[in-house]
Amino acid sequence: MSVLVVGSIALDTVKTPVEEHADQLGGSASYAAVGASFFSPVNLVGVVGEDFPESEFAFWKSRKIDPGGVQRAPGKTFRWSGEYAWDLNTRETRSVALNVFEDFRPQLPEYFRDTQFVLLANIAPSLQAHVLNQMRRPRFVIADTMDLWIQTTRKDLDALLPRLDLLILNESEAREITGDTSLIRAGRAIRRMGPKYVAVKKGEHGALLFGPDDFFSCGAYPLEDIRDPTGAGDTFAGGLAGYLAGQGAKQIDFAWLRRAVIFGSVLASFCVEAFSLNRLRCLTSKEIEERYEMFRVMSQFEVLP
Ligand code: AMP
Repeated sequence: MSVLVVGSIALDTVKTPVEEHADQLGGSASYAAVGASFFSPVNLVGVVGEDFPESEFAFWKSRKIDPGGVQRAPGKTFRWSGEYAWDLNTRETRSVALNVFEDFRPQLPEYFRDTQFVLLANIAPSLQAHVLNQMRRPRFVIADTMDLWIQTTRKDLDALLPRLDLLILNESEAREITGDTSLIRAGRAIRRMGPKYVAVKKGEHGALLFGPDDFFSCGAYPLEDIRDPTGAGDTFAGGLAGYLAGQGAKQIDFAWLRRAVIFGSVLASFCVEAFSLNRLRCLTSKEIEERYEMFRVMSQFEVLP
């Protein structure tokens, strides 16, 4: 089954303590779509400007990502620039230029509206709702968000939450949206705001998953070298959503979600090994399977002789 992905498509300028790269492909939907495409076909919705390289459309098509919902609008592509501190954990946004995003009102092609799995990657919650309104009967709806929307468009975000099967957010956002420093209490409190499941990303410390009766916690893959953490969260969400869609399970239950969280974590761990989407562009299914197996081995604590 396919997954519909909507979010930002950007040209990013990213600076780490050792290097800087300008105008590289980025954006929440770019990372999420490629992450999902390892497991299922993707229907992509977004907007790019006249300056956006045509070669990316060919790349999407080569990965079974249908750009039928990507508009090319007059003006410049959305641009974002960020700088990481020496520990690569703290990031400062240097600049944001909305450009073609300013007037973006996505109109879904007719054949996208029956997509069963939906990933509302990080964009304004009103746009996420606008896309969801055009879907007929999605089976499983996932949304990602960020601190900006919690701070500036809280009403829109609150209205979206009851429409979600799964909300994904990072630990500082979970604390911010609930005003609670305990992540366990925060995860449970966010579920009471509407989504059936909540996934809290903890960067290099893994992720937590909350369900109606269940709780799951996993670590992150222990990488020695991280080159560019940008997009890890979006790739996590994409991998997770793509895995669920690709399995075509009749009922998405907690066991499926646990595995999906691990596949999301595997994809995110590859994403940060290179700048932009460069590692994901050459990633193979075999490498994903091998790292998934490593996760399985690492998470066992009773090792038989
Ligand atoms: P992440 O590292 O997972 O937080 O995602 C980084 C990506 O989010 C970058 O590629 C940016 O282009 C994109 N991004 C940054 N700010 C925004 C925003 N306000 N709305 C949508 N996407 C954004």
